[in-house]
Amino acid sequence: MRTATADATIFPAGDGPDEIEDGLWRIPLPLPFALRSVNVYLAADGAGGWTLFDSGLGLPADEEALRAGLAEAGVALEDITTLVLTHAHPDHIGLAGMVVAVSGCPVYMLSREAERMYRVWGRYDKESDDRVIPALQAMYRAHGLPEDSLASVAPSTRTMRQIVRLPGRQSIVAVADGETLVLGERRHRVIWTPGHSDYHLCLLREDGVFFVGDHVLPSITPNIGVYPDARPDPLRDYFESLDRVRKAQARLILPGHGLPFPDLVRRIDELRAHHEERSAKLLEALAAYSTGAQAWQLASALFEGRLRGADDQRFALVETLAHLERLCNERVIVQAQKDGAISYSASTQQSIVNSHRDA
Ligand SMILES: [Zn+2]
Repeated sequence: MRTATADATIFPAGDGPDEIEDGLWRIPLPLPFALRSVNVYLAADGAGGWTLFDSGLGLPADEEALRAGLAEAGVALEDITTLVLTHAHPDHIGLAGMVVAVSGCPVYMLSREAERMYRVWGRYDKESDDRVIPALQAMYRAHGLPEDSLASVAPSTRTMRQIVRLPGRQSIVAVADGETLVLGERRHRVIWTPGHSDYHLCLLREDGVFFVGDHVLPSITPNIGVYPDARPDPLRDYFESLDRVRKAQARLILPGHGLPFPDLVRRIDELRAHHEERSAKLLEALAAYSTGAQAWQLASALFEGRLRGADDQRFALVETLAHLERLCNERVIVQAQKDGAISYSASTQQSIVNSHRDA
């Protein structure tokens, strides 16, 4: 049960460390975003060791909350024997370097997610070595994001790189899809679940405890977005990944954000329905443009009145792109490029135009 004494100056408002079952803790860490908190899970491995799942953002407030949460569980940072990272988003990897430095533990993750972690969130000696920020800017620009929002891409990426504390590369132990990961006395199945990030993993413990990261969240929809140098159709990946875990023998789902929940199948079906509905709304919005529309125009229409700043705008754009990409692959719409600007239109229009051209 959640402790009544959780310190509101350390933990996210109204939340605190929670012993879910014997030897299994949820420790919520604060986030300075609209999304107020992220979970770290602490699990006894049955052989005297302790596994941490994910590591919050890397701000001093995160470290304070993690240390306080561990103390409540009677575990010191030095006692951590394994860190598992579900995926390389800043709010899940931020304290990994600190945890490794103090405990000397290995970090388990999918190898290509680790590669991406260092490429995107590692620090660059020279700005010109960094291909990530220019690629992001080029993608956003091609899809019509306004210049004032584009201007924030470089500073916000660099700020995040200052905040996250990455572990040294030598601490990474690559795991593979389908592998059985034995931690102490506990066996876990590694399940690759691309969509929210390309090499996101879920870990199904043999007793039905399911660590799902941000693959399935109870009360918000995981962001599915298109990014440069990433897998091309993340929404299709996501649907397939939902299918991959749908039949898991799971009794307790432990998400990266929000509270643990029991009913995996119901939540998967809701998430699927949400995305189908959004695709339908996107097609409706597209129908208002007889000569095609840029992704940013469609994102603005879809998220009207809900985008509070440049970060929101970029999330809305990449999410809209994920839907557009899937609709393109299903040949419902087509993409066109002109003078570096990318636009989309319904494929029926396009085929009429093409047939006229052919005739
Ligand atoms: Zn995430």
